[in-house]
Amino acid sequence: MFEVTIEQTFAAGHALRNYHGKCENVHGHNYRCQVTMEGEQLDHVGLLVDFVALKKAVQVVIDRLDHQWLNDFPPFDVLNPSAENMAKYIYDEVNKGIDAGPGVHLESVRLWETDTSVATYRP
Ligand SMILES: [Zn+2]
Repeated sequence: MFEVTIEQTFAAGHALRNYHGKCENVHGHNYRCQVTMEGEQLDHVGLLVDFVALKKAVQVVIDRLDHQWLNDFPPFDVLNPSAENMAKYIYDEVNKGIDAGPGVHLESVRLWETDTSVATYRP
């Protein structure tokens, strides 16, 4: 099995709803996002996924979130903008935009809110 992972960063603000603690207050994060593709077969070049194509597909999604107030940004105007929900959102959106070869699929999205706190979504 092969895995290919790219990483991108963005900044955004949020406040958690129905939460009692520091995170209910308005604050921001410098998010770090890791996107991993997985598959058993390489293409004729020897690639699982072209890093450039994967980065482009992720960048489109990250650009929507970058420097946003997430609590006004659908679906996070309704869904809580937790790292877990955001990781799933990024997974679903990247999955729509990526053109992977046969047997290659999006494995997971990991989203760091801080250097020591990360949420992972993997279907
Ligand atoms: Zn937060």
